[in-house]
Amino acid sequence: MRYVDEFRDHALAKRLAATIAAEVDPGRDYRLMEFCGGHTHAIFRYGVQQLMPPRLRFVHGPGCPVCVLPMARIDQAITLTERHGVTLCTYGDLMRVPGGDRRTLFQARAEGADVRMVYSTQDALRIAREQPGREVVFFAIGFETTTPPTAVALEQARAEGLANFSVFCNHVLTPPALAAILADGARIDAILGPSHVSTLIGTAPYAFVPEQHRLPLVIAGFEPLDVMQSTLMLVRQINAGTARVENQYRRAVSESGNRKAQALMARVFRVRERFAWRGLGEIAESALELAPEFAAFDAERRFPVECAPAREPRGCECPAILRGEKRPTECRLFGTGCTPAHPLGACMVSSEGACAAYWSYGRTRDRAAAG
Ligand code: SF4
Repeated sequence: MRYVDEFRDHALAKRLAATIAAEVDPGRDYRLMEFCGGHTHAIFRYGVQQLMPPRLRFVHGPGCPVCVLPMARIDQAITLTERHGVTLCTYGDLMRVPGGDRRTLFQARAEGADVRMVYSTQDALRIAREQPGREVVFFAIGFETTTPPTAVALEQARAEGLANFSVFCNHVLTPPALAAILADGARIDAILGPSHVSTLIGTAPYAFVPEQHRLPLVIAGFEPLDVMQSTLMLVRQINAGTARVENQYRRAVSESGNRKAQALMARVFRVRERFAWRGLGEIAESALELAPEFAAFDAERRFPVECAPAREPRGCECPAILRGEKRPTECRLFGTGCTPAHPLGACMVSSEGACAAYWSYGRTRDRAAAG
């Protein structure tokens, strides 16, 4: 297949659904965790869950970068711009996530802080070049996929001697988070592995999943037929009692990944000893910070700010949802106290968040499936 429409072909989807239904053992459950928020979005947008047999369920994982960012880091960003008077550049989703005292970057901006929404690291660099009298901080978040643009910006800033540019680094790593969920005893039978992240890191870092946890993992593309084909591959592994890493997304992912991007990451970042994830707690060696060579561009060193860990809003089930233990509709605030217009938790803000995906596509379908 060459064009995206072909990966959404209705007739092929029906054939794949029939094959899955025929191969699923009606006497057992199949709980497949999709790690990545992009898959959660695709599953709801295209109604993939409704095409599955009743005992096959997708369990949503923590792979939404906005959702796993602890509230204390939002508080830190707000304090950083208010106390130090810096221009804080960030992506749109992040501006709407409430911090510990329910304040958002949008509110901080309304109250006078210089917070700018940008579409790329290059926008932040441009602002720093155009306003040499201002300190410009880029609020960097995301899994491995989004690290190369941050790394490129840092190398550019260093090459240009752009002394008023720095990065508040919150990049996180997929394999340690997956390891933490599995070590915690997640009740799942198999994993749909991330696609974009895997283009960068390759398939090799997932070897621990079958080796240590005896679970099958299939790297899956983002289109509905990708998800369905990957599901079939997982069903076949579960039925055969095998556990290995397979790669459905071969058109973009190799075993070793993108070596050039990995070398870039290794030059610019180093692994933090620990990082506190929202919903998953502290995980060793699960996030990145700037390498010592880039200390001059490290906002955490230049503008030190400490913020106490924040408590989740009362009643918000984000932590359980991020661990795959609950579904959004099991949160009593879903659709009442918490909606995309007035989100309480991060899972309702980001388009990759499970609550936002349920709200946009899954509410009625889920009720129909349950009923
Ligand atoms: S619906 Fe809102 S309050 Fe409930 S878990 Fe999702 S984000 Fe949290």
